[in-house]
Amino acid sequence: MSESSTSSGEHLQENAGQCAAVYEQLKSSFDTGKTFDLSWRKSQLDALKRLLENESESLQDALYKDLGKCKTESWVSEIGFLLNDIKHTVKHLKSWVKPRKVSTPLAAQPGKSYIIAEPLGTVLVIGAWNYPLQLVLAPCVAAIAAGNCVLLKPSELAPATSALIQKLIPRYLDNSAIAVIEGGKAITTDLLALSWDHIFYTGGETVGKIVMQAAAQHLSSVTLELGGKSPCLVERSADIAVTARRIVWGKWMNCGQTCVAPDYVVVEACVKDALVQAIKAEIREQYGKSPASSEDYGKIINTRHLQRLESYLEGVTVISGGQVDHENCTMAPTLVENPAADSAIMREEIFGPILPIITTTQLSDMLPVIKAQPKPLALYLFTTSKSVEQRIVRQVSAGSVCINDTMMFMTNPDLPFGGVGASGMGRYHGKAGFDELSHLKAVMSRKFWMDIKVRYAPFSNWKLAA
Ligand code: NAD
Repeated sequence: MSESSTSSGEHLQENAGQCAAVYEQLKSSFDTGKTFDLSWRKSQLDALKRLLENESESLQDALYKDLGKCKTESWVSEIGFLLNDIKHTVKHLKSWVKPRKVSTPLAAQPGKSYIIAEPLGTVLVIGAWNYPLQLVLAPCVAAIAAGNCVLLKPSELAPATSALIQKLIPRYLDNSAIAVIEGGKAITTDLLALSWDHIFYTGGETVGKIVMQAAAQHLSSVTLELGGKSPCLVERSADIAVTARRIVWGKWMNCGQTCVAPDYVVVEACVKDALVQAIKAEIREQYGKSPASSEDYGKIINTRHLQRLESYLEGVTVISGGQVDHENCTMAPTLVENPAADSAIMREEIFGPILPIITTTQLSDMLPVIKAQPKPLALYLFTTSKSVEQRIVRQVSAGSVCINDTMMFMTNPDLPFGGVGASGMGRYHGKAGFDELSHLKAVMSRKFWMDIKVRYAPFSNWKLAA
């Protein structure tokens, strides 16, 4: 289904009807109970694995069309990432679905207590454009593993990937339980009007609030994977060459259009010059003399976002890069020095290839800089000092923390991924995703053979005194 047909009220109604029809189909599929079956879940995960393996070339082509992603980057951050996720899930699924025994207090003896992970029901997944495959299919892996029916709504801003997802999913997966609807705001609004058991949304804060409001109408639970300004702190004891290499890797992958990319760097003054020189040298090393035209460097998703990024450069000190190519929708890796705290670039999530470098005299001055911002999705710290590491990890709230690297924590499926405060709520990847899309049902089972009457009325005086 495409949104070109939504120009008239009549067509809007038709689309709303189609959304409702798919929703009803998923609900009745769920009611058959087939998704509860472990073998069904495994068969669907295997089918998704086959899809990714067989169709990897066309998926890489689509990602190149949408974001100029080179094949290696598409593999590492999207297709390969998903294959690892599926492998990990299939390996552990049998143990995740097992009832989890817990102890039972003396007052409830004889009896036993356990927790069952039961499927939530029908799950709506709304994806974002920056990793348009991974951000739709990773929640889908968790939804299938947990035994749900799921509707995927990829981002309309990555149209080639969105169209391919819609074409391929029904070819490989059980379409009565796992469906795709393409579209933008209008279709998503129609979908949000339905009574989902859970809504899994990835994207910006403004729409996150719309999703949460819609979910409140039906008391649907939500996962909100949002963004924010992820800081990167560089303390004087850090190995500056390795720090620069890892910052360049994390910042300019996908042209900075990554929710956990370092948004800005805060560095101690005594190592600032060395860091800036090392970052410039690393940009040359990784992307060559003309980075924006490197085959390994992506493009900005569209001209609207390119204009937004250009506007951040007004009135700030650019110390490297800044070149913009409107025809190819690219912006070179750009360094900005000490922008004012109230400048747009320090108020908004950059989500592009510009890196502000903020200098502070010492470590303790860094905390007010980062605490002036809402809680970030990720926090990066480069240091060899254990006490600095412990202090920052304890004192700064963030979705995730990574010491002496950027983004690598995403490769560990045993680490839950999600935000806190304005960077989101709920978490996924690995078992965290399975639990997020399950209801952890508490069960207590008692015996008849011993029934001490002390808790029943009438309450005699001696019982009260006890
Ligand atoms: P986007 O424009 O692709 O929008 C996200 C989804 O919301 C799309 O599917 C879109 O169709 C839908 N949508 C847009 N407007 C809507 C409306 N008015 N009503 C209902 N639905 C609507 O993506 P975006 O918002 O530009 O994404 C970028 C943001 O996402 C950044 O803040 C980034 O940090 C964040 N992000 C977070 C994660 C994460 O895992 N936490 C991952 C990627 C991106």
